[in-house]
Amino acid sequence: MQFTRLRLQGFKSFVDPTELVIRDGLTGVVGPNGCGKSNLLEALRWVMGENRAKAMRGDGMEDVIFAGTASRPARNSASVDLVIDNTDRLAPATFNHSDSLEISRRITRDIGSAYTLNGKNVRARDVQMLFADASTGAHSPALVRQGQISELINAKPKARRRILEEAAGISGLYQRRHEAELK
Ligand code: ATP
Ligand code: MG
Repeated sequence: MQFTRLRLQGFKSFVDPTELVIRDGLTGVVGPNGCGKSNLLEALRWVMGENRAKAMRGDGMEDVIFAGTASRPARNSASVDLVIDNTDRLAPATFNHSDSLEISRRITRDIGSAYTLNGKNVRARDVQMLFADASTGAHSPALVRQGQISELINAKPKARRRILEEAAGISGLYQRRHEAELK
C-alpha cells in the first residue's frame, strides 16, 4: 500500500490548500520549529480514522480546524485527502476495481466528521478497517510520534501485545473480535 498524495485544507496550520506528493523512496520533511512537520503526520493519522483528540494534541477533535491568526480568521471546517496506489489490490472488494483510492475526511464545527472513499460516503469504521487489514492506520507503530519511544519502553504488556498483533497483520481480526464481543 503506497501513499502517493496528501492534501490538506484548513487542517491545523495548513489553512490554504496544500498538496504533498509522496514519491518512491524516502521522503524527508524539514523546516524550523513550529512550521507544521508534526501536523503533516497528524493529518495522515487523522484521515486514516484517528478518533482520539489527545493523539492530535487537542482537547476536542474540532481543534484540528484552523483556529485563526492575527491576520486570518478561523475556519469552519478542515479536510484531508489521502491518495493511495491500489495496484496491489488491497482495498475492500467494492472499491477494488480501481488502481487508486482516495480517502477524504472532513470535519465541520458542530457537525463532526464525514468520510468518503473514491467519492462515496463511508463510515469511519470502513476506513479504519481498510487500513487495519493492510497493517497500517491511525494506531500503526509505523507512525512514531515525538515521545513515543519512551512510552513504548514503559508500556504495559497489553499495549505491547497490540503492537505485535499489528506487526503480525491481524489487527483487523482483533478489532472484529472485539466488536463481536460487544454485541
Ligand atoms: P517541531 O520542530 O517543534 O516539532 P513542527 O514542525 O513539528 O515543530 P508542528 O507541531 O507541526 O510543528 O506545528 C505547530 C504549529 O501549528 C504551531 O505554530 C501551532 O500554532 C500551529 N497549529 C496547531 N493547531 C492549529 C490550529 N488549529 N490552527 C492554527 N494553527 C495551529
Ligand atoms: Mg514536531
